[in-house]
Amino acid sequence: MAYSLMIHGGAGAIRAPERFSGSLKHIVEAGADMLASGAGALDAVARCVSMLEDDPLYNAGCGAVLNADGAAYCDASIMDGRDLSAGAVAGVRGPRNPVLLARLVMEKTPHVFMVGAGAERLGREHGLVFENEAYFATPERLAQLARAKARHETSLDHAATAHGKLGTVGAVARDQAGNLAAATSTGGLVNQMSGRVGDSPVIGAGVYADNASCAISCTGVGEQFLRTALARTAAFFVESQGMDAEAAAREAVAYLVRRVDGSGGLIVVDRNGRCGAARSTPGLLMASARDGRITVGDAGPPAA
Ligand code: ASP
Repeated sequence: MAYSLMIHGGAGAIRAPERFSGSLKHIVEAGADMLASGAGALDAVARCVSMLEDDPLYNAGCGAVLNADGAAYCDASIMDGRDLSAGAVAGVRGPRNPVLLARLVMEKTPHVFMVGAGAERLGREHGLVFENEAYFATPERLAQLARAKARHETSLDHAATAHGKLGTVGAVARDQAGNLAAATSTGGLVNQMSGRVGDSPVIGAGVYADNASCAISCTGVGEQFLRTALARTAAFFVESQGMDAEAAAREAVAYLVRRVDGSGGLIVVDRNGRCGAARSTPGLLMASARDGRITVGDAGPPAA
């Protein structure tokens, strides 16, 4: 079976999208090489999201934005479409790769969702790499927080104005055995209240994978994706209404806009390996690989 892989680096009004092209291409190629040599979808999405987390260009891992207290708290999730197993973490400080901590929750505990100190302890016990505060509080992130505070706003990572751009990352894949997986990781919103959690670590909102339908990763204003259970809604369109990835992505964004005037986008790989993406924002940073063909680009015009 042919493999399919998509990654995203956030949605919004993206200044100079060409800044991201080299990184997106490099990361999607790394994931595609894995899938081409027989790796599973779960390993490929974990690897791609880890690489996105290691790149300061994105709002996840080392590039995570700072909350109102000037601290980086990360959220991440991963889901295996073979049996709907899933793992997620929220409000964790310090792990270099929050997506790997989410995977530990899935594989090493009987739980799905862990937060804060308990989740961090799990990571330490399993030898995950942790970083200190200086790793996250880069001069760029401190300046961004100062701007948001001066405007009294809670904003998305790349915002020129509030909700201008979201920098969360994600990956979805189908491997050569036909198995699907998805992962999402974020630092949340710039200047968000301490304790706020968005959609990214919530199964069915910011992430979903089911071999019976599709794999999805979302980016956008988390509250709107939570209220519409957007990832599960997109899967429903594939599973129950027979849509392919592209139609389901478009319908999901149309629903997001219609019901909550939502801002963001999503990437989808369906059970037949088709790739789709849609957004209501001016841009969505993304790249895809389908059986050796690499595409780095946008998701077409925003849905009405
Ligand atoms: N969805 C993320 C959140 O609300 C933000 C983003 O996509 O950039 O936490």
